[in-house]
Amino acid sequence: MSVIDELTNELARLPGIGRKTALRLTYHLLRQPSSQSRKLAEALVALTERVRPCERCHNLTESPLCALCTDPRRDPTTLCVVEQASDIASIERAGEFRGLYHVLGGRLSPLDGVGPEDLTVAALLARLEPDGVREVILATNPSLEGEATALYVQRQLTGMSRSLVDGGAIRVTRIARGLPVGGDLEYADGVTIAQALAARREM
Ligand code: ZN
Repeated sequence: MSVIDELTNELARLPGIGRKTALRLTYHLLRQPSSQSRKLAEALVALTERVRPCERCHNLTESPLCALCTDPRRDPTTLCVVEQASDIASIERAGEFRGLYHVLGGRLSPLDGVGPEDLTVAALLARLEPDGVREVILATNPSLEGEATALYVQRQLTGMSRSLVDGGAIRVTRIARGLPVGGDLEYADGVTIAQALAARREM
């Protein structure tokens, strides 16, 4: 396979990029100064080598702990559980939430072969007591899979830390349905996310 075909194939794997766009991007990269393309290549290598999950919340970071987990102004007793690290950026943009996060690393999706063991639920349960968590806000997407995931996590929280949850020590809440059903957190505007958080309800 030629280098051009190889790059085109790789670009075409990216979400939202079809073969035609991939080919156009490849030719664009060939036309621009090679120093520019090299920068892109170096950024990609650095991304794969330096970015890793935060040891506490699984957000993406270049350090053992992410900037949110090490920020003393954040409230560690409130956890917002999201599907992807990119969801954190959406919620942070809304500027209302002052707690910490937990990234599940996806959503339950039997069709795509994503089961409970692929998510960081065990790590979530393990940090509740040491971190003194008082509320867990389930902010998975309002899709079928997102709802199923929220329900699964809620059951795990109730089952594995029954004394904590039933004793009233930990509230489990779900963000409100202010978000369009089937719409991703990623595309919601800050006001909608802030409203969905403010109107969260007990599960
Ligand atoms: Zn973190």
